[in-house]
Amino acid sequence: MSDIVANLNMVKGQIAAAEKEARRDKDSVTLVAVSKTFDAGEISPVLDAGQRVFGENRVQEAQGKWPQLRKTYSGIELHLIGPLQSNKSADAVALFDVIETVDREKIAAALAKEIRKQGKSPKLYVQVNTGLEPQKAGIEPKDAAAFVERCRSHHGLAIEGLMCIPPAEENPGPHFALLEKLAREAGVEKLSMGMSGDYETAIGFGATSVRVGSAIFGGRDYSPPA
Ligand SMILES: *Cc1c(COP(=O)(O)O)cnc(C)c1O
Repeated sequence: MSDIVANLNMVKGQIAAAEKEARRDKDSVTLVAVSKTFDAGEISPVLDAGQRVFGENRVQEAQGKWPQLRKTYSGIELHLIGPLQSNKSADAVALFDVIETVDREKIAAALAKEIRKQGKSPKLYVQVNTGLEPQKAGIEPKDAAAFVERCRSHHGLAIEGLMCIPPAEENPGPHFALLEKLAREAGVEKLSMGMSGDYETAIGFGATSVRVGSAIFGGRDYSPPA
């Protein structure tokens, strides 16, 4: 068995243990395997092992591998977890089943237009910048409920959940608790929170999906090919 598949099984086991620990239902948490920077050859063993839900953070990178993988494997569910530019909205709606990073009016409007045009219905989450970090995308916590409502009433978009990326150097627990509270206020069910370093914590705070990359695929290499 490859390392990657062993890692996948380990993560699945930890998710099951965290669900039990938190007295949550078995399989109530969806594992989103984050495959950014890894190519089709590295992703295939994970698909062969039965994993079907994947996350990518760049539209263009995802276009380079997933249309081909979808010809070989059925039932793939692809999540966009990186920032979306409005000029990429058409491509994002065409490729992704879940867009987790709706974070401003302009994107909501662009997605609404493409969704009508293409007749597709990706699930949509709003990204919340729980740490108020200037370099990070996401709506401010105080504006989250009103933005979700505006997506519904003004753009006709059904928002299903919230997503956050806590500041790297902080204890993530309070950020997960805040996202859970905001989801209740906004009346949405899904909570995308928790990454390789903190997904078990996130499950304790009610995550319905966790986005796990390096714990499955190993460290990422961002340097350009030599
Ligand atoms: C890369 C990424 C992840 C996965 O991070 P790991 O620490 O490798 O698990 C999760 N969420 C987002 C938004 C990401 O960009």
